[in-house]
Amino acid sequence: MINYAGIIIEFATVSEIDRPFTYIVPDSLKNKLKIGQRVKVPFGRGSRQQIGYVVSLMENIEPQKYRLKAIGELIDEEPLLTSEQLEIVQFVVRYYGTSYAAAFDVVLPPGLKDNPISKAPTHEKVYKLNEDALKVKIYYESNKHKQSFKKQQWIIDYLREHGSVSAKSLENQEEMSKSSLKTLIQKAIVEIYEEEIIWVDDPICYNAFKMLNDEQQAAVDYMQAIEEANVYRTVLLQGVTGSGKTEVFLHAIKNILEKGGTALVLVPEIALTSQTLARFEERFGNRVALTHSRMNAKERQRIYMRAKAGELSIVIGPRSAVFMPLPNLKLIVIDEAHDSSYKSEVDPKYHAIDIAKERMRYHLGQVLLATATPSMETYYEVQNGAYDLLRLDKRIGGATLPEVDIVDMRLELSNGNHTVLSKKLYSAIEATLKQDKQVMLLINRRGHSTFINCRSCGYVLKCEHCDVSLTYHSSTQSLQCHYCGKTEPVPEVCPQCGSRHIRYFGSGTEKVEAYINECFGEYGVGRMDTDTTTGKEGHRKILDAFRRREINVLIGTQMIAKGHDFPEVTLVGILSADASLFMQDFRSNERTYQLLTQAMGRAGRGENKGKVIIQTYNPEHFIMDVVKYNKGELFYEQELANRKCMGYPPYTHIFSVLVVGTDEGQVIRTIHLMTQYFRYYSDRGQNHFRVIGPSSGVISKIGDEYRWRLLVIGDKRDKLLIYGKYCLNKFYANETVSGVKIQWDMNPQAMI
Ligand code: ADP
Ligand code: ZN
Ligand code: ZN
Repeated sequence: MINYAGIIIEFATVSEIDRPFTYIVPDSLKNKLKIGQRVKVPFGRGSRQQIGYVVSLMENIEPQKYRLKAIGELIDEEPLLTSEQLEIVQFVVRYYGTSYAAAFDVVLPPGLKDNPISKAPTHEKVYKLNEDALKVKIYYESNKHKQSFKKQQWIIDYLREHGSVSAKSLENQEEMSKSSLKTLIQKAIVEIYEEEIIWVDDPICYNAFKMLNDEQQAAVDYMQAIEEANVYRTVLLQGVTGSGKTEVFLHAIKNILEKGGTALVLVPEIALTSQTLARFEERFGNRVALTHSRMNAKERQRIYMRAKAGELSIVIGPRSAVFMPLPNLKLIVIDEAHDSSYKSEVDPKYHAIDIAKERMRYHLGQVLLATATPSMETYYEVQNGAYDLLRLDKRIGGATLPEVDIVDMRLELSNGNHTVLSKKLYSAIEATLKQDKQVMLLINRRGHSTFINCRSCGYVLKCEHCDVSLTYHSSTQSLQCHYCGKTEPVPEVCPQCGSRHIRYFGSGTEKVEAYINECFGEYGVGRMDTDTTTGKEGHRKILDAFRRREINVLIGTQMIAKGHDFPEVTLVGILSADASLFMQDFRSNERTYQLLTQAMGRAGRGENKGKVIIQTYNPEHFIMDVVKYNKGELFYEQELANRKCMGYPPYTHIFSVLVVGTDEGQVIRTIHLMTQYFRYYSDRGQNHFRVIGPSSGVISKIGDEYRWRLLVIGDKRDKLLIYGKYCLNKFYANETVSGVKIQWDMNPQAMI
């Protein structure tokens, strides 16, 4: 008999109450209460009703110091969480040092509040003709000569032909008129029923699968062998873009589905999901579903429940989809696995690869990391033998890697070319368009001019609230701060000296678009960046226009470099290869290498040989050579050696603490004081950690808040985490902190 339950309170993000509380199970719930359900429970002094998660059920407990309270009511009839998910919650708490409340929050779909979860409807509305056929016939015959009857006639004919038709599908027909339908219903010619929805899996469409080449087949066989051995593995599928990676995991998923398993596919950007979805639906029909943050909360809850009920075999989505409760999960594919969007920047700051590995350990399945440019962490794990490596070295259809040209922009300047395009890139664009092919141009900054200054006094226009210069946007005729989002009108005179000589420097996507339009406007020019892709359909519209060839030159930020398959693109221009090279971040080489390689992958995917032109002010940088001569291995070796020598990940782990606040003095005092704690416990403890800083953030002020950072580096992740949290707790216990926020992160992806 169950008498007591352990319950975690949903809002318990502070450590004192972040643990299970024991509650009495009232008689009314004794047969209904299950682990993984949500309940309402009285909590705290006022006994206010709070939401809680049932994490354990007990018959007897030790005598308690306090009088126990009883559970109020059940929120969900069925548990929302599976036992696997409860283990994942534990993992998130342990591995990221976060609260239970935050862990539950990330595992469950959004927007639950205290309502029962939205389930997919079990019944649907259907229309059919009155069974009294004579009545229908008389009505039809007596009206059919009237012009005004046309629309009703169409509905009657349609229902005669199709029998009962779901309301949704009838209402979606183009010829359908709502008012005519209403009339027919009023006259009882058409009747409405509720019918149970019977879920039938679409069959796998075997014809849609490509015959694999040898490399692909070997990869699929390898994955099948792992599956048959029923063991956990993580596999890196490394292949240049266009080498057929997606086709490999489509086949692997087919093999898994045939044996009753399920699969998750993570993609880095919402932009990519619709394209990926189409390739999946073609093969797996209604067994595939998509989930992402632009869908409303109810829809996402339904997908979650359908996944949990076993109605879906494949779910595709970004980072957060990694928690989908698919039963019998045997494969998690992480496409473009190097992408930094797989790391969450909000609490719990999880990485989708960590979660995927943990889930596959539980289910004895495999994680497939698909990418042309693995992260240093992944490459390192392969070298250590922790991950397996599958390589695809040939491009499909024998397409060769593009030819790469590095253009020294310093020479262009000294030759008097002040435009955004080098002579070489300009003529290549012209030639490509004349051959009726397409061009992609990558420029990693949005807006028009990224830097505005006064020629008389040298004053640079900066955001009032952030330590960054303002970007001029020509479309809105305004100055914008890309960090806090504030916009300002363009000043006519210098705010400092009143001079009228204000100049615009630096090129963003808008400026490039304007220039390309001037030169090649007749071929169709489009731009894709966060300014042109708002809304649910934003990405798709631009990409469709490019596919339909209304646009032949597509300009964009790094979002165009990812994953898109456009066989008619034969030229890719990278206008500013340097932008990411000299950021104050130990990952800047890695990021630049990845960006250049990904962008190159867009060129010459079809039968056409591709060309890539990279403009740079640093042609002698080793990455330019690596990219030009396709020496990826060399890059990884050299970069690993750098990291080892500098003591950075993947050889170490970083515990980063950020203090932010509006009072700069207070921020600096706080972080210095805190640093003393870190140094003290590192010097005195058994383990020693490298404490770097404190120093002002790369961007020292954002939205009126000053930012200071402390980095603590250690070899062992678990020891570092315990030590980091210990120091923070000691600090909180002994010091009064006011007016600042303190944030910490394990192995952050960005260091701003
Ligand atoms: P990647 O994911 O590595 O970029 P894809 O799987 O998207 O590569 O393959 C690139 C293109 O080649 C796609 O259009 C795909 O349909 C096609 N393709 C992949 N494998 C084969 C194959 N074995 N035979 C014919 N075409 C293939
Ligand atoms: Zn001035
Ligand atoms: Zn700002």
